[in-house]
Amino acid sequence: MNDPESLFFPETAARRPLLIAGPCSAETEEQLLTTARALAAAGVGIFRAGVWKPRTKPGGFEGVGARGLAWLARVKAQTGMRTATEVATASHVRAALRAGIDLLWIGARTSANPFAVQEIADALAGTDTPVLVKNPLSPDLELWIGAIERLRNAGLRRIAAVHRGFTTCEATLYRNAPQWSVPIELHRRMPELPLLCDPSHIGGQRELVAPLCQQAMDLGFDGLMIEAHCRPAEAWSDSAQQLTPEALDGVLRGLTIRDRNPENEHLAQLRAEIDRADDELLALLARRMEIARRIGRFKRLHAMPVLQPARYDELLARRASEAVRLRMDPAFIRTLLRAVHGESVRQQLEEDRP
Ligand code: PEP
Ligand code: MN
Repeated sequence: MNDPESLFFPETAARRPLLIAGPCSAETEEQLLTTARALAAAGVGIFRAGVWKPRTKPGGFEGVGARGLAWLARVKAQTGMRTATEVATASHVRAALRAGIDLLWIGARTSANPFAVQEIADALAGTDTPVLVKNPLSPDLELWIGAIERLRNAGLRRIAAVHRGFTTCEATLYRNAPQWSVPIELHRRMPELPLLCDPSHIGGQRELVAPLCQQAMDLGFDGLMIEAHCRPAEAWSDSAQQLTPEALDGVLRGLTIRDRNPENEHLAQLRAEIDRADDELLALLARRMEIARRIGRFKRLHAMPVLQPARYDELLARRASEAVRLRMDPAFIRTLLRAVHGESVRQQLEEDRP
């Protein structure tokens, strides 16, 4: 992929990953400056903080608004870091540029709206502001590409994409399903476009940030945008997924950055596919157990025994013969089904307890 640091800021040395870190939201000047000083000490070059927060429902913390821009200017003056914030309207763009914000991003709720993206693109025309385009909430690659094209058509050249996962109705480990195949396809379609990963919004919990960072690096992403807060537990938004600057430093030190040769990328893509299959397998198993618990309740209501050997034998025989057709060893499928069935019976018995 590309070298976004020199693309965005040609005077800085190229390095991978390009790092952007900072709190989900600007809350107070003290919170911003405390977080920023620690991140600067950890070597982060670009500081992020949302001052306008698009919230799913009204009533949540919707950001401190334009006064947060002055705090970001102070972060820049005191630490030397570049600054970044989210924009969703032309007036956000104008206010951010007036305040000297270095880099803007378009959030997932905005990149899905062509009217809003066009308005932002028009407001940016004639500048060479670096802009990051987060993927839309839904895994709609054309919509993501469309947003990038609107900015390009307005004459902007310093553009990168940020993968932040997708809304899903399946129960998954993640807040937003990574569906790595979508950003991988974006890279195939636009190989010159720098691609960053936002593990914080994909994971939704801080424990998932490190493995997601590593996965993104293994897949050849150019950079990372990570949420960090001086006191994550007290954060006014996205508290569960933010890291302290010290924890972030640990995550970065723990990363293995491999050469981006095509073999590595191919292997990493295959591993990502395996991970996706495992996610689906787990979600399916969870669904099966839920059905088993419902059966348990039904049997209890109707005073039926939990274990019904005839049905179990039939199930095993039928699946074992199907296994051959699906290129699997019948003995393996029997072992697997016995384990699944054992857990089902255990859950039914638990459900059976009055
Ligand atoms: C954010 O970066 O804090 C944010 C709101 O992200 P997204 O648009 O990806 O949900
Ligand atoms: Mn956030």
